[in-house]
Amino acid sequence: MFPRDAIARRAPTLWRYAEALPFGPDDPVVAAISMGEGFTPLVPHRLDGVEVLLKLEFLSPTLSFKDRGAVVLVAQARALGAAELVADSSGNAGTAISAYAARAGLPCTVYVPGGTSPKKLRQMRAHGATVVEVDGSREDAATAAIEMVEAKRAYYASHVYNPFFFEGTKTYGLEIWEQLGWSWPDLVVLPVGNGTLVLGVARALDELEAAGLIDHPPRLLLVQANGCAPIARAFVAGVEDVEPVSNEGTIAEGIAIGAPARGGQILAIVRRLGGTIVTVDDEAITAAVADLAARGLFVEPTAAAPLAGLAQYLAAHPEVRPDRVVAPLAGAGLKAG
Ligand SMILES: *Cc1c(COP(=O)(O)O)cnc(C)c1O
Repeated sequence: MFPRDAIARRAPTLWRYAEALPFGPDDPVVAAISMGEGFTPLVPHRLDGVEVLLKLEFLSPTLSFKDRGAVVLVAQARALGAAELVADSSGNAGTAISAYAARAGLPCTVYVPGGTSPKKLRQMRAHGATVVEVDGSREDAATAAIEMVEAKRAYYASHVYNPFFFEGTKTYGLEIWEQLGWSWPDLVVLPVGNGTLVLGVARALDELEAAGLIDHPPRLLLVQANGCAPIARAFVAGVEDVEPVSNEGTIAEGIAIGAPARGGQILAIVRRLGGTIVTVDDEAITAAVADLAARGLFVEPTAAAPLAGLAQYLAAHPEVRPDRVVAPLAGAGLKAG
């Protein structure tokens, strides 16, 4: 499943883990749409005396990590002979699916909630997607998408429900493992809205574990925004199911998911791995955006939330000084606004 010597000699894209993916790079459905996604660099950063490796996911073709999932999902849609894609998104998943649908020559409709960043809408429309702005919440956008899927028998290119998306986000974890010399850091910091990156990392850990390739599993630190933190709330309450909350507003629009469909699954993962979840307010996110920009890295507010959460966690736990930490910079600054 993970032939390390062979993997190390392959092109620097997520397709280097071909044995662990549903398709290989030479598969015609992939060759037609791949844009060299994956294998993003790790850049060192110091925070409170701790060495943090920032994984520059905003260097992806559509400027967020969602390309990892979108390329596998759209390849699968092509393999099944889908004629039309339907998605719902608060932004970056919609831009990624629109781009790969365009490359696949498939018409694509994206349902978005009110208040989605105009730049992300422009990006979707530039790729030829039909964008439907739903007057309502993120969940209302999903309901509208599902109605269209059922009415038109279209392919539901959902990054939340469709497991092929997590096959793609799994490579985020595999890359961390490879880039750290086939080992895991002490702490993996992840944003969580719908949890596609969390579920991907959990898959990577499970598959490596099954292959007997994990010596030192990482701890997870998950970060939500104060204004919309249903998973953090359930974690603290010690319950197994996530009660939906209404989004009270946050600048981290990409993680403001009030009713995460896989919330229970995410909670189970964090508990199984001995991880924790923190929430951050907009002030801390704004400070993290500014701190990153002052050090050359321009990201959207959602993408600064993990670092804001890490800073808060380190400040609250002076006794915890992890040796190696990896955090994503998941979306580009030019996407905001
Ligand atoms: C999608 C996204 C997230 C959250 O990912 P989930 O899969 O919803 O947990 C975080 N940051 C950015 C920039 C995103 O695009």
